[in-house]
Amino acid sequence: MHDYFDHVHLADHQRINHFRNYYELTRKDLLIKNLKRMKKNLERENKLLEASMYNFFPPTYALPAEYGLFVEEFKKNPGVWIMKPVGKAQGKGIFLFTKLSQISEWKKDHRWKTESQQVENYIVQKYIDNPYLVGGKKFDLRIYVLVLSYAPLKAYLYRSGFARFTNARFTMKKEDIINNFVHLTNFSIQKHAPTYDSKNGTKWPLLNLKLHMITKHGEKAVHDLFHQIQELITRSLLSVQNVIIQDKHCFELYGYDILIDELLKPWLLEVNASPSLAADTPSDYTLKYGMLEDLLTVVDMERHLTTHSSLKQVGGFDLLVEQGKVDSKGRPSQPLLGCFNDRVEQLRKLRKVVATLGKPLQLLHYKGFLDRFEGGIYIYSAYCTTTFWTTDHVCETPIY
Ligand code: ADP
Repeated sequence: MHDYFDHVHLADHQRINHFRNYYELTRKDLLIKNLKRMKKNLERENKLLEASMYNFFPPTYALPAEYGLFVEEFKKNPGVWIMKPVGKAQGKGIFLFTKLSQISEWKKDHRWKTESQQVENYIVQKYIDNPYLVGGKKFDLRIYVLVLSYAPLKAYLYRSGFARFTNARFTMKKEDIINNFVHLTNFSIQKHAPTYDSKNGTKWPLLNLKLHMITKHGEKAVHDLFHQIQELITRSLLSVQNVIIQDKHCFELYGYDILIDELLKPWLLEVNASPSLAADTPSDYTLKYGMLEDLLTVVDMERHLTTHSSLKQVGGFDLLVEQGKVDSKGRPSQPLLGCFNDRVEQLRKLRKVVATLGKPLQLLHYKGFLDRFEGGIYIYSAYCTTTFWTTDHVCETPIY
């Protein structure tokens, strides 16, 4: 990644889909390090209430570096813990355990080797053993966040997302602790379950989940939960704001993994730098295709929206945070996350607004090319185009 930045000169009309040291947010151990540091700084400044708002990650230690600290905590707080390799994804290398001897085995068997040998880094984390269940099954949420800038912080949240369910019913029985079909919600794992239904998949739209929860718990409780999720995301971004190298050519789409427990508390599990854009069902396709289109509209390389500083909504993306601008109204009554996605209607309105300003109009009709590099890095170059469409022409042009 650093190589690309050091050797590729980006012109004004070019954008890259990662920040230089994006891994400060997306590597499991660095995310936790940054969250812990933020919390400690707030405590030091005696901002105890704000510090307590960072209690959205389970007790976590980096191994092997913090093994001693972990053992101390484990003795005070035993039960089920989960080991996750920091450099892997899709549930690979993850296992649950209840006894220290189970990791001593791992220490010997796996990578806990002599100093000269490379050690595989893990995080060890308290397992959330009371997840919120639907139909007896565990799920986690995948939520998309688009960061346009870290200094000042400016991010949009996509209102659609989905819940990823397990195939097997949840249980904390000892003999099932090694059953990944019960405990890990990754689609890459669940699609191999014997009961996997390829026609319907294992995903449920966020909107459906929200409505289901509202019928069970009422609007207030569920809106409060979704507000907490939005605030958790903002705080996670604030915790890396001073660490991530700002570059006006960069933007990044993150995939947040969030677990809800039975007390309706959200927990941040991890942030993915290159969330999967593969579509396994038609509704998955609609969501991801629409989101990518909206992403390019928000990033606005052709500068159609530049006179509108910070639109509150662009397609399915809602402005989540724009630092330096205090919203005096405070929390709106309804969190936008999980709301009905009116992106088509909204884009139609946006076209009209932009058109009245006499600006060139090519929303949703991007001209440019993508260079793909190793490791999911893309550089998008917009063509400089002199032709543009008039309002009339746009009205005649079907959007979809
Ligand atoms: P990966 O990058 O391999 O997907 P995650 O941290 O997202 O790793 O963990 C994979 C899955 O394991 C999650 O989707 C979730 O279902 C489960 N999981 C991870 N950490 C916890 C935890 N602390 N408590 C309960 N379940 C967890």
